[in-house]
Amino acid sequence: MTNTKETKRKSILKNFYPDYIFEKVEDIPYDLISREGIRLILMDMDNTLIDFKGKSSKNLKKWIKMLKSKDVKLYIISNSFSEEKVKRVSKELGVKYFFKAKKPLSRGFKMVCDFFPDISKKEIMMVGDQLFTDIYGGNKFNIKTVLVKRINKRENFVSKFKRPAEKVILNHYYNKEENSEKCRV
Ligand SMILES: [Mg+2]
Repeated sequence: MTNTKETKRKSILKNFYPDYIFEKVEDIPYDLISREGIRLILMDMDNTLIDFKGKSSKNLKKWIKMLKSKDVKLYIISNSFSEEKVKRVSKELGVKYFFKAKKPLSRGFKMVCDFFPDISKKEIMMVGDQLFTDIYGGNKFNIKTVLVKRINKRENFVSKFKRPAEKVILNHYYNKEENSEKCRV
């Protein structure tokens, strides 16, 4: 590959690189959120907040409560078409939702962020388990992105189909010296 091609390929891959990687949503430390000046956290739902059976963990609930006490706003932004499901999770976690978001398109991100006109993009973070929807979408929208490990391996066909390509990108990401120590997902 020529040098220009190589550079181009690398810059394309960068669109899929998260700013941070954690094993679970509730592992994102408040220290980091505060240091980055984050005031709004957008969260994917499937396999990020809930498992395949629709369950979420006690620790996640604690984390949400802690952030609310620090006045950090939270919002679920899901591609799910089932409002019933998103509504149930939203109610259980006490976090508002936006469904049929069509991530990675910017439209959903924009609609949710427009609910918070006093919060700038620098103060917003997207958390999710998928590179092609959550991370790419968040990066394109110019907000901070956090990749988390999917809660369980069982998932829908479309997501499963994208995993091998995600692996290739993540390998490139981890091969970079500055990322080599990062959490492996
Ligand atoms: Mg997901």
